[in-house]
Formats: sequence, C-alpha cells, structure tokens
Amino acid sequence: MNLSPDLQQVLLELANADRAQAHPTRQSPEEKELADLLAQRERLASAAAAAQMAVDDLELDILRIQEDERKLKKRDLDDKRQLTAETDPERRKDLEHDRYAAKSRLADLYYELKEAHGEVKALRNNRDIHGARLDEIDRKVELARRAADAAPGPVLVDTDALRAKLPADVLSLYDDIGAAAFNGRTCNSCFITLPQAERSHVLSADADELPTCPNCGALLVRVAPGE
Ligand SMILES: [Zn+2]
Repeated sequence: MNLSPDLQQVLLELANADRAQAHPTRQSPEEKELADLLAQRERLASAAAAAQMAVDDLELDILRIQEDERKLKKRDLDDKRQLTAETDPERRKDLEHDRYAAKSRLADLYYELKEAHGEVKALRNNRDIHGARLDEIDRKVELARRAADAAPGPVLVDTDALRAKLPADVLSLYDDIGAAAFNGRTCNSCFITLPQAERSHVLSADADELPTCPNCGALLVRVAPGE
C-alpha cells in the first residue's frame, strides 16, 4: 500500500488515538500516584491502630495492678488495726503472717508497675510516631487528590478530521488490519521484536510505501528508534 510519508504520520496519529480511546479507563499518572498513596495510607493506618491497641492493653494492665495495690494496702491497714486490739497469740500470729504476705506481694506489684510504666512510655512513643506518619501521608494524599482533580483529562483527538485526510483505500485497509509504529526492531501493535531479516525487509521498503508486520499484519509506519 502506498502512502506519502506525511500521511503515514497522520495514519499513525489516528491509530494511536483509536488505541487510546479503546482504553478510556487507563489511569493518569496523577491518579496512579493517588491510588499508591491511598494503599500506603491503609497499611500505615492499620499499623497505627495496632500501636494504639498495644497502648490500650498495657494501660488496662496498669489499672489492674493499681487496683490490686489499693486492695493490698487496705488489707495491710486492716491487719494493723486488728493487731492493736488482738490479744490471742494464735490470732496475732495469723494477722502478722497476713501482713507479711501482703507486703511481699506489694513489693512485687511495685516492680511490675515500674516495669509497665517504662514499657507504656515506649509504646506511647511508638504510637505517636505512627500518628505522625499518618498525618504526613494524609497531607500527601490531600495534595495528590488536588493534583489528580486538576490534571487535564485525556486529550480528545478529532479522529474524523484525521480520517478525512487519508485516502479511502488506506482507511479501509486500516480498519481491517490496524496500523502501528515500527521503531526498527519492534512492531507497536503486537509488540514482537522482529528477526533481523524481517526487520531489514520492513526498513528497506520505499519511503512512500506502507509495509506490514510479518507477525500480526498491521500496517507499519516507520519511526526513529526510541520513539
Ligand atoms: Zn505486529
């Protein structure tokens, strides 16, 4: 099929526009950035929730230890009061033994509490770090959302105008078999890298001729390598 090099570029423009319109749901780079950030935010949010839960659990433990401490102190005080009035040696012995047990348990609780306070401090710190990260990503998400909203939509190409420039026989062939760029190695329709002999054959066609892809049959418009 013959077509002047200028019109070959028009055909390529038409083929690219038709291909782009066949995939209208393709994400813009801004939308992709936003989707990536939202996925990242979800992971950070669940890590932040886990960090908060660890703090909550340990705070509950601390409350429980403090409650036990309060009960033991009260028991010790009760024993002490009873001892001032008790004269029976057996009863006094029991009360003294109970005071000793309470004091020994209080000493254990004291260390437990000290340890828990140290640990909760570290856990709160960890939670705050997660919170700060979440705030930071929220700012990024907000910026990305604005960028995605502001990004220009897909450029609408006037394909009718392009078609009007092309001869009817080329259009009819194009509608049957399609057209794509050929960068000297790869057909941009089937994305097959052609063997050396086939490449040479395509490249050696006259400038105003449209070779076809030996693999998929599409009309090939030769472009500079890298295009
Ligand atoms: Zn091909």
